Amino acid sequence: MRVIRTIEQLREALEYLRGGGHTPIGFVPTMGYLHEGHASLLRRAAEQSGTVVMSIFVNPLQFGPNEDFAAYPRDEARDLALAEREGADIVFMPSVEEMYPQAIRTTVSVSVLTDRLCGASRPGHFEGVATVVSKLFGIVQPDYAYFGLKDAQQVAVLRRMVSDLNMNVKIVACPIVRENDGLALSSRNVYLSEEERRQALVLSRSLREVRAALEEGKVRTVNEAKAMLQSVISSSPLAVIDYAEILTFPALEPLEGNSRLLEADGELIIALAVKFGRTRLIDNNVFTAKEVHALV
Ligand code: AMP
Repeated sequence: MRVIRTIEQLREALEYLRGGGHTPIGFVPTMGYLHEGHASLLRRAAEQSGTVVMSIFVNPLQFGPNEDFAAYPRDEARDLALAEREGADIVFMPSVEEMYPQAIRTTVSVSVLTDRLCGASRPGHFEGVATVVSKLFGIVQPDYAYFGLKDAQQVAVLRRMVSDLNMNVKIVACPIVRENDGLALSSRNVYLSEEERRQALVLSRSLREVRAALEEGKVRTVNEAKAMLQSVISSSPLAVIDYAEILTFPALEPLEGNSRLLEADGELIIALAVKFGRTRLIDNNVFTAKEVHALV
């Protein structure tokens, strides 16, 4: 595995690999502090690709002024060991100066899809994500790029960006990896105190309970499902809800409050963002009415 820190060296290395037929090129962009969720993306990439490139870059553009850019956890040695173990061929770790040598004057913004959920709570976040991912796609020119459904809105936004701008890359969405007790893996979980960590289980529990209530017919409408989410999450005294929404996926359009969830066409998303102390956690479940019907 090679560790490369400059754009020029990465381009040279990739040109050499492409020339040698080590294609397709699979790309896994991350902010590091790697865990099993990132490892699952690397493994999926290794299955499909001749060369696996992982980037580790904490992108200042996607953090708001009061967010945790400076405090974001970093552990280069551990990340490199995990990347090598899970099949990365190249790890690209640029500095902020390498990625942004001058004030950026060109950004990518995806409208409408970013009006809700994390887009509403974190103004500018998805513009930062779309811009850095566009830059990374321009540098790596991957055939496939792997993203986790843990960040489902990010998947929807990037798919739309790739489609609208005719980028020659296929976005592969990978399932959410969870701890045994249900907590979705996240680099930010290290911020949680023991008590917050315990109470944070309410996110995945509320998703499971709403899904079960739908299957059992105890909950039918969008409003009933949202009320149930609110009540389950509020049973954890430390939980402060940022949003608990049910939308269509990937268009992220709202549904009529009285409409019946199991009569909706296509995919739906139950999306949560909840704060525990200063840590904001997200989780979601994407499903179709058809798949719930099949379980009933
Ligand atoms: P991050 O380093 O948090 O920017 O995440 C990099 C990639 O890993 C993104 O595509 C995330 O969606 C994905 N990812 C993060 N956590 C998980 C998880 N628990 N399961 C699956 N993918 C994840």
